[in-house]
Amino acid sequence: MADTVRVIGAGLAGSEAAWQLAKRGIRVELYEMKPFCYSPAHQKSGFAELVCSNSLKADYLSNASGLLKAEMRLFGSLILEAADAARIPAGGALAVDRDVFSDYVTKMLSAHPLIEIKRERVDEIPDEPVIIATGPLTHEALSSRIKELPGFSALHFFDAEAPIVTRDSLDMSRIFAASRYDKGEGDYLNCPMSEDEYNAFYDALVSAETAEVHDFDKNAVFEGCIAVEILASRGRQTLAYGPLKPVGLVDPHTGKRPYAVVQLRRDNLSGSLYNIVGFQTRLKFGEQKRVFSMIPGLENAEFARYGVMHRNTYLNSPDVLGANYQVKGRPLFRFAGQMTGVEGYMESAASGLTSGVALARRLKGKPEPDFGNKTLLGALASHVMTPVSDFQPMNANFGLLPPLESRIRSKKERYEQTAKRSLSELENIIQTQQLI
Ligand SMILES: Cc1cc2nc3c(=O)[nH]c(=O)nc-3n(C[C@H](O)[C@H](O)[C@H](O)COP(=O)(O)OP(=O)(O)OC[C@H]3O[C@@H](n4cnc5c(N)ncnc54)[C@H](O)[C@@H]3O)c2cc1C
Repeated sequence: MADTVRVIGAGLAGSEAAWQLAKRGIRVELYEMKPFCYSPAHQKSGFAELVCSNSLKADYLSNASGLLKAEMRLFGSLILEAADAARIPAGGALAVDRDVFSDYVTKMLSAHPLIEIKRERVDEIPDEPVIIATGPLTHEALSSRIKELPGFSALHFFDAEAPIVTRDSLDMSRIFAASRYDKGEGDYLNCPMSEDEYNAFYDALVSAETAEVHDFDKNAVFEGCIAVEILASRGRQTLAYGPLKPVGLVDPHTGKRPYAVVQLRRDNLSGSLYNIVGFQTRLKFGEQKRVFSMIPGLENAEFARYGVMHRNTYLNSPDVLGANYQVKGRPLFRFAGQMTGVEGYMESAASGLTSGVALARRLKGKPEPDFGNKTLLGALASHVMTPVSDFQPMNANFGLLPPLESRIRSKKERYEQTAKRSLSELENIIQTQQLI
């Protein structure tokens, strides 16, 4: 049937996309390669398998992940309905029993009269309309086909990212803006270290705990990219002569060249996010917060995303994707999930939601949703289509949203107000665009 949508991959994104399509009266064929074929991280046959942590992160409004959940709930998200049914006590976080969660999603999708489940591996790009949501560990037969699509050759197979912090959370009384030898226009934020600070930081870094390396990540090779803790382990001075070298920089607070300097580089157009230059890392997330908060100026830094080094198939989306995760010039061909350059369980599900709602509306001859820039659903979709020199996957965070018009000093209150603005904006969008 012409208007049957093929959704490939019944993970977090594909499950949500299929649900949103079916909710809007669209027939869906949902393809999942399990149980006949498993990625190196998947182990169970159910849909929406949580391959690692069983936490879907915070569920309160002063946290961006909580805001994203609230936005998704307005659309009757299946992933959140399942999470609520499988919830286990975890303070302010939404943690779930992963089997109950996956069973719920599998049963709901299997029982829907408009959804046909196809347990098979897809090796070729299917006919449109289609949403590909095969995740960070997409089977290689399909990823080779994707790479061959016109404009898609820059597909990434590995994610080696330095942490990103919000500008708002930096202590600017300790940091100075400057480029080495005054070249450029003070493009970098510099965190100067004394010898004692450098040594304390070094000791903490080389003794910090690293995350477990999966077998499928062990042999991954990426040029010019080495974890900061590995570089540090080569000798106490390696960082001071490498990424932390202070040459060409004078601290205006002291009038002297610092012993070492950690540089932060702007990560988005608005300047609300900065990455820590050269700090791609495999440290555990908690250890990143502990150790990197020792950098002067980063004592209270808020991490919009932690550093990672792992296998991750994702598109160079700004080259190939347009609004609502559609392939440029091919609105009936969309992607969703981690492979679009969003990062995390909820973000993947959110992109599936947007992709599904938008494709359903297009097939019904209605205008596509425009989520604007003040909602997280809109900001995530916009992140993946905004050209940047080095496109990287992104978690939901408040740095993706424009600042409030009035200045609020308390961070918690500021975030709550920002979240309230997003929700009222989204309610307005839903009503005026008649999205539900
Ligand atoms: C090892 C690992 C650990 C992670 N841990 C976390 C974490 O703790 N917290 C977090 O928020 N995020 C985590 N992530 C990141 C990300 O949130 C998850 O990978 C998330 O599941 C992505 O959702 P998705 O829908 O894009 O892909 P997935 O949930 O992986 O779903 C993709 C589905 O497509 C199927 N599939 C793949 N290829 C084909 C094909 N050719 N034909 C048919 N079906 C196919 C797969 O079997 C799978 O069911 C992790 C990622 C990895 C790789």
